Amino acid sequence: MTQGQRYDYDLITLGAGSGGVRASRLAAKYGGRVAVIEASRPGGTCVLRGCVPKKLLVYGSHFASHFQDALGYGWQIGGATHDWGAMIAAKNKELDRLEGIYARILRDAGANLIAGRGVIVDPHTVDVGGKRMTAGKILVAVGGWPVVPDFPGREHVLTSNEALELKERPKRIVIVGGGYIAVEFACIFRALGSDVTLVIRSGAILRGFDQDVRATLAEELEKQGIKIQRDCTVHSVEKKGGEYSVRFDKSEAMAADCVLYATGRAANTANLGLEEAGVQLKKNGSVVVDAQNRSSVESIFAVGDVTDRVNLTPVAINEGRVFAETFFNNNPMTLDYTNIASAVFTQPPVSVVGLTEEQARKDHKVRLFITRFKPMKHTLSGRDERTMMKLIVDKATDRVLGCHMVGEDAPEIVQGLAVALKAGATKAQFDATVGIHPTAAEEFVTMRDPVPEKDIEL
Ligand code: NDP
Repeated sequence: MTQGQRYDYDLITLGAGSGGVRASRLAAKYGGRVAVIEASRPGGTCVLRGCVPKKLLVYGSHFASHFQDALGYGWQIGGATHDWGAMIAAKNKELDRLEGIYARILRDAGANLIAGRGVIVDPHTVDVGGKRMTAGKILVAVGGWPVVPDFPGREHVLTSNEALELKERPKRIVIVGGGYIAVEFACIFRALGSDVTLVIRSGAILRGFDQDVRATLAEELEKQGIKIQRDCTVHSVEKKGGEYSVRFDKSEAMAADCVLYATGRAANTANLGLEEAGVQLKKNGSVVVDAQNRSSVESIFAVGDVTDRVNLTPVAINEGRVFAETFFNNNPMTLDYTNIASAVFTQPPVSVVGLTEEQARKDHKVRLFITRFKPMKHTLSGRDERTMMKLIVDKATDRVLGCHMVGEDAPEIVQGLAVALKAGATKAQFDATVGIHPTAAEEFVTMRDPVPEKDIEL
């Protein structure tokens, strides 16, 4: 479905990441004349600087515990060593492959991939390195970028972008922040043998997650030897020879080989011409859009992290799909943002779907089901790691409002539970489901006794 030859293209997409590629590929498949402008390599944050390389390093780091756990099962494994450089090289080779796939997907769909930085000139015009092109619609899918606050020595710190490219594994690393990225990197480096200090400005990691998840994960991280400095702010970072001295506001300075800041990400909207074109931005620079991903300018749309709604790859992909279906396939759609499952790839991992207890209590009277146990695997491995599962149930309707897990395979387990929550499953239906034995997952359908009300801290 083309929108006439008035413009060079029906759609110009800025950014070849998850959201932009899905939208562009579908729009082209439905007959749109599409150009995708990418300043870096096709693939975006998830494929090149986020989920994928991170998960590969998570896999790589897990072997350390597998080797240790194997001893309890009779294995004798001597002399296992890890080559950081070899892992990074293997990871980079895989990213090159994925980059090629992303470019091919666009090419095969008939979209025109243009290298360069696109800047919006007016609601239908984009400039790429001095060349102007026009489109009926412009889709902004430029994602986000790590944010490092201002402080003396800011120039010495790394973000997740560089942490994925380190030539050597740091022996001592200070990680600032307590969100997804901070805790995931803390686990990768710790598992591979680094001395890891996590510096958080508040009293607990993973703001926004259920309190039982936050407390359980912190306990597990500390058991592995990750030091968590709570209520702590970095005052400055100084380079002293080959190392860094990190000074804190209250406690003593600490020496480290590397300082990683994982203090959040912000939309990549600076100098993109958006405000000049009349596009309304939020205070944090993200694009304000409606349920159809339309900005305050009729012809300009945005999907993914640049809109700062739910900053997850599958959400960006779905937003891209919704956009293309609505505007290029005459199939109006919106995305339902409730019950989106997510995971934190720590060791053990976290996965959740639905409401936290705190959120649920705002509108519901709830029953809580919590179980904590030592996974069967660790009866012989001897590892002191415990699993926590929690269900939050609406007292009035019996609907399960939230599922939370900290424990091995949590993301693999919770993905299935997300279907149940989407379908509106009740606790009675969870109870009527026969478990798979012996698994950890079966605990989600065998929790019978709610936490006594007297034991619930309000
Ligand atoms: P988050 O927003 O998750 O966490 C930021 C952390 O930095 C918080 O602990 C916050 O503390 C702290 N912080 C913020 N500003 C400062 C400051 N000035 N000084 C000290 N600490 C500060 O950001 P991330 O960078 O970890 O991740 C960005 C986003 O990327 C996530 O929100 C998520 O959407 C996505 N992501 C998803 C992953 C997944 O799905 N597995 C993995 C990685 C990233 P406080 O809590 O006190 O505010």
